[in-house]
Amino acid sequence: MSDWLTPGLAHLWLPYTQMQTAAPPLPVVASAGVRLRLADGRELIDGISSWWTACHGYSHPHIRAAIEAQLATLPHVMFAGLVHAPAARLAQRLAALLPGDLERVFFTESGSVAVEVALKMAIQYWRNKGQPEKQRIVYFRHAYHGDTFATMALCDPEEGMHTLFAGTMPDQIMAELPTDENLRRAFDLLLETQGGRLAAVIIEPLVQGAGGMQMHDAATLACVAAACARHGVLLIADEIMTGFGRTGRMFACEEAEVTPDIVCLSKALTGGTLPLAATVARRHVFEAFLSDDPAAALMHGPTYMANPLACAAANASLDLFASEPRLTQVAAIEAQLREQLAPCRDIPGVAAVRVKGAIGAVELGGPVDLGALRRRCIELGVWLRPFGNLLYLMPPFVIESGDLATLTAAVRQVLDERARQH
Ligand SMILES: *Cc1c(COP(=O)(O)O)cnc(C)c1O
Repeated sequence: MSDWLTPGLAHLWLPYTQMQTAAPPLPVVASAGVRLRLADGRELIDGISSWWTACHGYSHPHIRAAIEAQLATLPHVMFAGLVHAPAARLAQRLAALLPGDLERVFFTESGSVAVEVALKMAIQYWRNKGQPEKQRIVYFRHAYHGDTFATMALCDPEEGMHTLFAGTMPDQIMAELPTDENLRRAFDLLLETQGGRLAAVIIEPLVQGAGGMQMHDAATLACVAAACARHGVLLIADEIMTGFGRTGRMFACEEAEVTPDIVCLSKALTGGTLPLAATVARRHVFEAFLSDDPAAALMHGPTYMANPLACAAANASLDLFASEPRLTQVAAIEAQLREQLAPCRDIPGVAAVRVKGAIGAVELGGPVDLGALRRRCIELGVWLRPFGNLLYLMPPFVIESGDLATLTAAVRQVLDERARQH
């Protein structure tokens, strides 16, 4: 059946996985629409879009055709001193879609690196402007911005990996999201007193993803943006998870009518097909790097930056946002998630239910047996991956209501079963 599995598994090291005790991974052989097919022929409905990327479902013919056409002419070429149409078109389209004068696009290959580039931009921006002491970054409780060293330092210190790597990461400043009047004053005071050494504030707008699907409203986001503007601190919006429709608008920042100085994009950028990320800067950020001095240039350049296949896939993904009713589908998913996850509030052991756009999260109280939850989901024919104390849904936007009902029913059932066992 899958003769590669056992011999290959002996040499694989899986992410966030205790390799001694974790259940073995499932061999997957094909994907189409919202379904994953396993080696034994079983099919699972994917409720989490392959780490939130596959917004158009799997194997969309339009994206496949675009990648195949690109493969035939220019699969890859270095991006220093050379440019190509897929990247040029994509940059122009992202600039047109993003708010305000967010118009300069720097391509990389992963979300963490897109955030690293945003940090370099912010710190060097102030150096180029003659304020080299503005270097520190403010992030928020429950934040997640990536797994590399600079980005780990911006993740929630309790949920993140700070203790494992204590002493090896840059020391940044954690703040509370200014969700009420007192917190607003405290946040403003922080920027007022520390502003002279702050390069930027980084935020996941409206929904903090890997830190536990915590949600805040547009007024909170607008308040953060206003405080940054008041105190001369750049605002970096990490829209790696929220970008491309997930919260109901094309970009979450739109809901608060905020134009950040720098935006990070990845995850759904290529519709879940190829790795690509982008760091997009406003005009004034870019202009701070224009100089007679070669050392004032942005010093970054990944080998595979702006890979043409990935850029072609991203262009095809943007075509689909224009030609198919993605945001309408997200609104329908939001309504169905609200209705069908609401009963979870009455299940013992459920601490909270949160819905925003095509994101539905159920937070659990008490100890959570993740292994048991994951096993039961697979038995029920759905692919979910609860983490921490959270069971969540982030389906592809093309999911039909019957399949979404199967996902929400599975969530209710595994939680009911868990309540009965306690
Ligand atoms: C996933 C994610 C990242 C990291 O992206 P990678 O491609 O995994 O490096 C950063 N920020 C947010 C908000 C994310 O959801």
